[in-house]
Amino acid sequence: MTDLNEFQQEVRTWLEVNCPASMRTPMVADEVTIGGRDTTFKNPDTKLWLERMGNKGWTAPTWPKKYGGGGLSPQETNILKQELKRIKARVPMISFGLWMIGPVLLEYGTEEQKQEHLPKIVRGEISWCQGYSEPGYGSDLAGLQTRAVEDGEDYIINGQKVWTSYADKCDWIYALVRTNTEVKHGGITMILFDMASTGVSTRPIKLISGLSSFCETFFDDVRVPKKNVVGEVNDGWAVSNRLLQFERENISADVFASDEVFDVRKIAKDYCSGSDGKVSDPLVRDSLSKILMKDHALKLTFKRVMEGTKAGSSTGSTSSIFKFIGAELNKDRYEFAIDAMGQQGMGWEGKAFTPYQLDVAHEWLRSKANSIEGGTTEINLNVIAKRVLGLRDS
Ligand SMILES: Cc1cc2nc3c(=O)[nH]c(=O)nc-3n(C[C@H](O)[C@H](O)[C@H](O)COP(=O)(O)OP(=O)(O)OC[C@H]3O[C@@H](n4cnc5c(N)ncnc54)[C@H](O)[C@@H]3O)c2cc1C
Repeated sequence: MTDLNEFQQEVRTWLEVNCPASMRTPMVADEVTIGGRDTTFKNPDTKLWLERMGNKGWTAPTWPKKYGGGGLSPQETNILKQELKRIKARVPMISFGLWMIGPVLLEYGTEEQKQEHLPKIVRGEISWCQGYSEPGYGSDLAGLQTRAVEDGEDYIINGQKVWTSYADKCDWIYALVRTNTEVKHGGITMILFDMASTGVSTRPIKLISGLSSFCETFFDDVRVPKKNVVGEVNDGWAVSNRLLQFERENISADVFASDEVFDVRKIAKDYCSGSDGKVSDPLVRDSLSKILMKDHALKLTFKRVMEGTKAGSSTGSTSSIFKFIGAELNKDRYEFAIDAMGQQGMGWEGKAFTPYQLDVAHEWLRSKANSIEGGTTEINLNVIAKRVLGLRDS
């Protein structure tokens, strides 16, 4: 047996023993965890699964072992992913730490920052939110106004962020602040701080879906040690763009994974097939084929680009392609589902609808945000035009 075969066998055995049965069923919205200090678990198996995967380092399989990661090679990571997929295992947690600030700390963080934060991210002990957008400064992020003024060994931070996902539930924030008012892009710094710091407050924003997953976030004289700056002072634009690449990659990867959770073929079969079990309506067949072809093409392109990048590294600016196509595809999936389900896809609450039907209706509205979060479709098209295709403004 080759080493990789042995590894595969090891993974299979470990998962058999350690992945609880309920974690091999489709994810249920109220059992999703973002981890963190005060998190509670509706299903005790979610806690167990997170602890086991976290302690093994397999929530962050490629990160070095000395920071709590799995220390796996890209080939081993692929095997782990295949084996998780084979048993239909749930993702142990949704984590901005794993997806965004962790990879950035690996590249830009000081040794002290890595030692302090990465192991806690891997084990889901500390949850993170993202303090980028401000009122009036979303797409034009470089115009941000939140000020950080030096005071001895600290910065004093004042300002407001908006659309901060899970800000009222997260433990720490990675925030972009202005450390120089003379220049736009060159006056931004990324800094980390505890959301329990004096002067931090949040106000939840209610969404169209009825949920409230993000907040307005206010900083009033928040004192943060200078050692919490990520990268160089005034070089936050480069650091923040790197983080956005990881974010866009992950938003699209999340969308790729969703075809296992949300199967458009099953929707067509359940709601549009005749007594012979076949879908005969040409319009339904046409829409379904377009979605499946786009999905397949996107997956192949992603695979090709990943194989072309350095092992384990990010896809760089091409992440904007995946974010753009992935977001549009996910919106198409839900539009298709709502059309196919007819009245049964229009339920908001009540016993006349199954929990699944209610989930689809809520997620249909949630999917509308896919082309806004992590950079809008228009902004990503600009990135693709300039940085991927090399086009210039005329
Ligand atoms: C679900 C969700 C979660 C989010 N989570 C977070 C979070 O955790 N942290 C955080 O900091 N932010 C978060 N955001 C905010 C998100 O990053 C911003 O909404 C996004 O960057 C757009 O900014 P804006 O809302 O200010 O819109 P605007 O920038 O005002 O854009 C309005 C419209 O104008 C278009 N536009 C703007 N500039 C240009 C241009 N130069 N060329 C072409 N078109 C342009 C945009 O594409 C858009 O259609 C989240 C948003 C959503 C929807």
